Amino acid sequence: MSTDSIRAGGVPAARPWRPAAAIKASAALHAGGIVALAAAPEAWGAVLAAIAANHAVLFGASLAPRSRLLGPNLTRLPEAAAPRGEIAITFDDGPDPEVTPRVLDLLDRAGARGTFFCIGSRAEAHPGVVREIVRRGHAVENHSQGHSTVFGWYGPDRLRRDIAAAQDVLAALAGRAPAFFRAPFGVRSPFVDPVLAHLGLAYVSWTRRGYDTVDGDAARVVRRLAVRLEAGDVLVLHDGVATGARRGPPAVLEVLPRLLALAAGRGLKPVTLGAACGDGSGG
Ligand SMILES: [Zn+2]
Repeated sequence: MSTDSIRAGGVPAARPWRPAAAIKASAALHAGGIVALAAAPEAWGAVLAAIAANHAVLFGASLAPRSRLLGPNLTRLPEAAAPRGEIAITFDDGPDPEVTPRVLDLLDRAGARGTFFCIGSRAEAHPGVVREIVRRGHAVENHSQGHSTVFGWYGPDRLRRDIAAAQDVLAALAGRAPAFFRAPFGVRSPFVDPVLAHLGLAYVSWTRRGYDTVDGDAARVVRRLAVRLEAGDVLVLHDGVATGARRGPPAVLEVLPRLLALAAGRGLKPVTLGAACGDGSGG
């Protein structure tokens, strides 16, 4: 877990980037293809087919949010969190000036802590909401600067600029640099991991998500999240809407109280990702 590398001042330290096995295999395949072509140019068809298949596998992995093929990916809390009965409830796509404060009220009333994966540009538009999240003991993490629909197709430079911009904005507002990153739409290209390593960020997806932005039926969303609810789970809800206008009232306000009650009934304690991963924030 790269949270080991969080410095005392709260600034995540860069970690060395170790290419995932799939990236190493891909590089070896490309190099091998060049050698094969030099030795036997007539084999170009087979070489091209192998490289195309390799790209198809990497593309598939980038669209599979919980895949570890492209680098480390936190889909559950570390094992030490389970005996403590901890779960992490995360909120994507905010801050939202109307919804986020109400989510904070619900969390506070239940004595629960949440983790907010904020969009940098939204944080700039609603700085007071970000400060309020932190003031009330919850955590602010990085969900990109622009939440672009083509984020997964960004080249290395644009990707680095986007994630670093959000990191700067959120660190300035929250008073602590984010330690975790979740890609918009969960789409993660092979270029993401080296950028995260450089910024000292750990990639987080989820154990289960509620699909609360596309399903307004609170009972169904709760069922999806709570079907096998147990210590160590990382759950996803939304306090903002990333694309277009919100249709109907935000489901999170109806879902969250039920989810918190279910968690309490099973003796589970919603804490921030950082606390569960041992950053010493206590919440
Ligand atoms: Zn999002």
